[in-house]
Amino acid sequence: MRSLRFDNAFIRRLPGDPEQGAHRRQVLGALYSTVQPTPVASPRVAAWSREMAHVLGLHETDVFSAEFAQVFGGNALLEGMQPYAANYGGHQFGVWADQLGDGRAISLGEVISETGDRWELQLKGAGMTPYSRGADGRAVLRSSIREFLCSEAMHHLGVPTTRALSLVVTGDWVMRDMFYDGHPQEEPGAIVCRMSPSFIRFGNFELPAARGDVALLKQLVDFTIARDFPELHGEGEALYAEWFAQVCERTAAMVAHWMRVGFVHGVMNTDNMSILGLTIDYGPYGWVDNFDPEWTPNTTDAGRRRYRFGHQPNVAWWNLSRLAMALSPLFAGVESLQAGLDRYAAAYAAADRENVAAKLGFAACRDDDVDLMRALHALLAEANVDMTLFFRALADIDPQQPSLLPLQDAFYDEPLRVATEPAFLAWLARYAARALDDPLKGQDRRARMNAANPRYVLRNYLAQEAIDRATQGDYSGIDELLDVMRRPYDDQPGRERFAQKRPAWAMHKAGCSMLSCSS
Ligand code: AMP
Ligand code: MG
Repeated sequence: MRSLRFDNAFIRRLPGDPEQGAHRRQVLGALYSTVQPTPVASPRVAAWSREMAHVLGLHETDVFSAEFAQVFGGNALLEGMQPYAANYGGHQFGVWADQLGDGRAISLGEVISETGDRWELQLKGAGMTPYSRGADGRAVLRSSIREFLCSEAMHHLGVPTTRALSLVVTGDWVMRDMFYDGHPQEEPGAIVCRMSPSFIRFGNFELPAARGDVALLKQLVDFTIARDFPELHGEGEALYAEWFAQVCERTAAMVAHWMRVGFVHGVMNTDNMSILGLTIDYGPYGWVDNFDPEWTPNTTDAGRRRYRFGHQPNVAWWNLSRLAMALSPLFAGVESLQAGLDRYAAAYAAADRENVAAKLGFAACRDDDVDLMRALHALLAEANVDMTLFFRALADIDPQQPSLLPLQDAFYDEPLRVATEPAFLAWLARYAARALDDPLKGQDRRARMNAANPRYVLRNYLAQEAIDRATQGDYSGIDELLDVMRRPYDDQPGRERFAQKRPAWAMHKAGCSMLSCSS
């Protein structure tokens, strides 16, 4: 651990808050505040990612050393670490919220790995910062397990995401009102160490722009391009335009992956949108069980469903248009920002077509296939069908002899299944004819589908089972689930129970189908 090499570019090259301490304040003219993690009672490693430890050159003996738990529980710093909280704003649920900032995330520094990659280490739940806004700066075990597991699961699913190194239980208690219903309870506290090449969000640009601080905005843009987009060259407005277009394209790719695997972020506020197009801030997210574009796991958003599954591509566009607004002082006109937003639309449409082709097992998407998928989506929603199970089983359909048999397991409601059988048979006939007409056949078709339609996803109830066990002091469920999620596209004999429909008991259980922002 002593050999970790730090290059803390963000705080070395950008202006910080001259004021010290974690007291609440508006921070003007600065992009971060230096702040120390608040020590915890008895930090203990509950889970870790061997992949991310490996990236840092850490071995199992390092992870189980007393020093590791102290450092990643916020009680000690390694040489080279310079903790800070970033200053950013954001649009929350469509409304400008002004200064937000890292209220409970504290970055420790930027490690340069042996391969030369940059990885910022950030503790989530490490105590108060100037941006805590009256909250406690802590995180509870249940949400920390969810963030830890999903960060890694998304990566293995091929979805761009921030990563997680460790999950440390603090030995402290944290008070939370889980459903905002006036019944606060003490819960075990925990800290996740997240890793990302950059934690810069759309909101980091929006805040200086909203304050009319164009010089600070420009400084951050120049820094971001130089550090995080080294492949971009040129200068001035042309460079800014190309950079914005890149952000748009990456965001499109990310959201298309979410739609492919059935992930609902739950809180797509602009402060939760990474400038690198990575999935960031795992809060009340959820995985689609029965296919339903209207579904959101976030109880705080249950009324308007702004961040529902099917709406995510539109929300990403809206968020990018907020970013464009923030960047507009750096442009003489709006044309190149508009061109960037158009790139989003084009990139999303192309990625969506690729999803159609891959999920249905075609070599390439033809215009009619978009309609074929749309028709299937309507049927799946109408008939209460499990998204993951259905698409995985579709690879078992023989286009020569199409039958509904392989798909039966995916239905949640038997009477509905029977009632919709004629419609499914008609769709299947259309699908089989199309598959027969495709150059992709047999095992090749199957392989393409199985690489796009995971066998395993981090179903809400599976995460909740691991949480329930961990709350009893048994952390092995976290490891087990992480291990299943390491190979989500492979059939894993003996692990069938992780690839099943949501059980009836989980339908209305807290944590399984509904979550609040309280974490
Ligand atoms: P989120 O909805 O989790 O993205 O959080 C929105 C804002 O609230 C961010 O600025 C967070 O840092 C802050 N925040 C959330 N929970 C806490 C907490 N327990 N203590 C301090 N700040 C928090
Ligand atoms: Mg956030």
